[in-house]
Amino acid sequence: MRNKVTLAVVMASMLAWGVIPAPAGYASKTSLSKINKEIAEIRAQKKAQQNNVKAIESQIATIKKERGVLEQELVVIDTKRNDIQRKIDKLDQDIEATTKKAIEAQEKLDESIERVAQREILLKTRIKTMYKRGNVSYLEVLLGSSDFGDFLTRMQGLRMIVENDTRILEDNIQDKQAVEKHQQEVEGLLANYKQMFAESEDLKAELDHQFEKSKVIKAELEKQEEHLHEIEEEEEQRLIELVQMEASKVAERKRLESVSKYKGGRLGLPIASGSFRFTSGFGMRSDPFTGRSAGHNGLDMAAPRGTTIYAAEDGIVVFASYMRGFGNTVVIQHNQEIRTLYGHIREGGIKVSVGQAVKRGQKIAEVGSTGRSTGNHLHFTVYKNNRAVDPAPYIR
Ligand SMILES: [Zn+2]
Repeated sequence: MRNKVTLAVVMASMLAWGVIPAPAGYASKTSLSKINKEIAEIRAQKKAQQNNVKAIESQIATIKKERGVLEQELVVIDTKRNDIQRKIDKLDQDIEATTKKAIEAQEKLDESIERVAQREILLKTRIKTMYKRGNVSYLEVLLGSSDFGDFLTRMQGLRMIVENDTRILEDNIQDKQAVEKHQQEVEGLLANYKQMFAESEDLKAELDHQFEKSKVIKAELEKQEEHLHEIEEEEEQRLIELVQMEASKVAERKRLESVSKYKGGRLGLPIASGSFRFTSGFGMRSDPFTGRSAGHNGLDMAAPRGTTIYAAEDGIVVFASYMRGFGNTVVIQHNQEIRTLYGHIREGGIKVSVGQAVKRGQKIAEVGSTGRSTGNHLHFTVYKNNRAVDPAPYIR
């Protein structure tokens, strides 16, 4: 019967020193040490979460700063754009005015060229006429003259006309040169304005480009910031949840602490004095099933079926149902360290439920023989910091 032996060994070791199977449900919620551990964990998470929020806040601050710098840049660029636009507008006016001047100058130049040309033609004709006369009509002039004096007068008159014409032509040429110079100056000025205009337009285009680029970056930063704010909200929500969890755990701990004033020391007898007899003590004993020597983690108190079992101290019921080995079982948490277990309760004999606060001496169950038991008795275990200890010093 290998199986039976193996089972027995397992059972025995479980009964002996083994930590009782972690009771599900309320037990895990009410065990003080467990609550303390949970609170510590929640606080660690909370701290990590606070750091998360801080990290995000710092990221947001960085982006905000970048955005601020960018906004300043945009203002500077925009100011420059305004300046350059003003310059362009001014240049546009200058070009318009100068173009008018250039047209006028060109007209004047055309006129003076025309004048020179006319004067040249006039002079050429005059000279030609004079010399024709000189060659052919010299005599005519001479002969036509009343005397030599008259002839000379006539000749002088002709010469004076030519000289006058020549002077006018020279004046005209000088005038033409001046007009030409002026026209060139105006053209030069116009070309200069046009070049400045082109350069300004290039600069404006460059500034527009910069402005658009900065705007795109700014929009991107705003998007990032918005996204970070969303994350921040989520993280803050998580932080709030942790704070709430912490608060509820702390409240739970306070409740558990307030339920029991037990500060250690003597426990009450779980069965009324005189109504039981000790049948098995704490420590090594002969296993009632196998006859082998095995550890016993509590006291056995034999009593008739149905005998009242009392809570050994104030506390909270953390387990109240069937447990392998112990049969129907109640476990009460008295403070952070001390927990008592009541086993082999009769069928239907559990009179408390998980989460219930009980007082010392309050009826919690009735004696029976459920589980691994050979007769009606109460198995009573005292756990200190999750380890079974000898109950005797607590109840004697
Ligand atoms: Zn026992």
